[in-house]
Amino acid sequence: MRIAVYCGAAEGNDPAYLRTAVRLGEWIAREGHELVYGAGKVGMMGAVADTVLRAGGRVTGVIPRFMVEFGWCHESLSECIVTDSMSDRKKKMCEMSDAMIALPGGAGTLEEITEVISWQRLGLNDSPCVFFNEGGYYDPVREMYTRMTDRGFMEQEALEQVLFSAEIDEIDRFIHGFQGRGRTASGGY
Ligand code: AMP
Repeated sequence: MRIAVYCGAAEGNDPAYLRTAVRLGEWIAREGHELVYGAGKVGMMGAVADTVLRAGGRVTGVIPRFMVEFGWCHESLSECIVTDSMSDRKKKMCEMSDAMIALPGGAGTLEEITEVISWQRLGLNDSPCVFFNEGGYYDPVREMYTRMTDRGFMEQEALEQVLFSAEIDEIDRFIHGFQGRGRTASGGY
């Protein structure tokens, strides 16, 4: 499987976050999955990519040209796809991937996972979406999603299609057992 991982370009101020990135990278390599991510070399992004590469796994980075020009691109990836824009990057990562996982991160990470979840509800993405909820990091997001459902802005079925978990085994089961809607619209991004 190709697993898209969204995560911080920073590493946070608790070593548990970096350890989580390493744990996820080890799982991706061990299971023979491929990592698809934003091609960064620092923070959580660098940690997950370096872990998969060190374990002999395959890593594809997808990065907009302006970030390559800033010198932000990881130099040792199995494959690097350069896009014209952030929008193209996010679309490409979504199209390529069989599952999406957000590790702890900042506004960029939140925006990326939120976008694929919104695409899921529109039928543009039929893949499982996961918040890796290390130390309850994403509890406020879970509360917001629950509120959206309670107040009638999100269907219960859509809420159940998103997993919040800090357990790799549970994430693994969720991804493998995921039943999407069985259709993906195209051309609507
Ligand atoms: P954030 O979660 O706010 O740290 O944002 C993560 C996103 O920011 C990633 O998807 C990257 O597109 C982008 N980003 C920010 N800084 C960097 C960097 N130094 N290297 C690579 N990507 C970065």
